[in-house]
Amino acid sequence: MSGPNTIRLSATDRGIRAGVALLRRGGLVAFPTETVYGLGADARDERAVAGIYRAKRRPARNPLIVHVPDVASALALIDLPEKGRRAAEAFWPGPLTLVAPMRGGARIAPICRAGAATLAVRVPAAPLALDLLRAFGGPLAAPSANLSGQVSPTCADHVMEELTGRIDGVLDGGDCAVGLESTILGFERETPVLLRPGGVTLEALEQVLGPVLAAGVVEDVAPTAPGQMTSHYAPGAALRLGAEEPRLGEAWLGFGPNPARGSAISLNLSPSGSLDEAAANLFAHLRTLDTLLGGSGTIAVASIPARGLGHAINDRLARAAAPR
Ligand code: AMP
Ligand code: MG
Repeated sequence: MSGPNTIRLSATDRGIRAGVALLRRGGLVAFPTETVYGLGADARDERAVAGIYRAKRRPARNPLIVHVPDVASALALIDLPEKGRRAAEAFWPGPLTLVAPMRGGARIAPICRAGAATLAVRVPAAPLALDLLRAFGGPLAAPSANLSGQVSPTCADHVMEELTGRIDGVLDGGDCAVGLESTILGFERETPVLLRPGGVTLEALEQVLGPVLAAGVVEDVAPTAPGQMTSHYAPGAALRLGAEEPRLGEAWLGFGPNPARGSAISLNLSPSGSLDEAAANLFAHLRTLDTLLGGSGTIAVASIPARGLGHAINDRLARAAAPR
């Protein structure tokens, strides 16, 4: 089987130009954002976006996030109510995705929405992502650059491991600063709905917007985000959450100053107990432990405080631990 020759592109003007050339031809180029690496394609090109679903083996019913370089470009695509605009002004560029009805004239390939009337849009903050978007001069559909259901990639090597031969290129911008996917906020009704916890905390959102509903609270708010599926972000190994210490044979994923006792295979998300650092390390540490365990066995995970970014970390851990 021979797929495309996957090229690693440098974080330079030359690398960006090469990435843009591939994208203009309908190719697939992974690029770093501050959250995770996205798998980009021209969001106006139905065939190119279909390639994302193929490369990721993503179920056709999962819509994609469309990335644009600034708030004005986003407002041209979706019809945001007043609170949505406030969220855009406060958190863009940044790790927040807004979901709202698509504007009639917006030129976005229907496949991006996977049948939904709404469109998910984000202005990422990572300079390399913004440089690529500006040089490309159009919207890029970009879900996380991993095989569907697997752990999201936070560096170019992670993308290469899973998608070599399946995509055209990877723009290598090093490690992602946030390390968790964007927060997804829905604006289909008066009160904004949290569709997925992520890089912007609920506390920060509520400070700007007032009350935000949790997706589970309103039964009929259900354009299901893959982030809302039970098993997702899943390594091969099983996870045991909220563990005090590893049992015999388990790997250990710690948090905070407690030393790991009793496990030969152990990593710490943040020895100092920083949730920012833990978020940035989460996916890479899960991958490393999974590899060391040979994709089976169990990773015991220390409990993570349920505040700030801890909510998003615990959400991803719960999905990674869910029965497949
Ligand atoms: P990923 O970038 O792989 O994390 O996936 C994109 C996320 O955005 C998924 O969780 C999607 O379901 C979500 N998403 C995209 N479009 C919509 C939409 N119109 N409504 C709700 N969620 C969406
Ligand atoms: Mg994903």
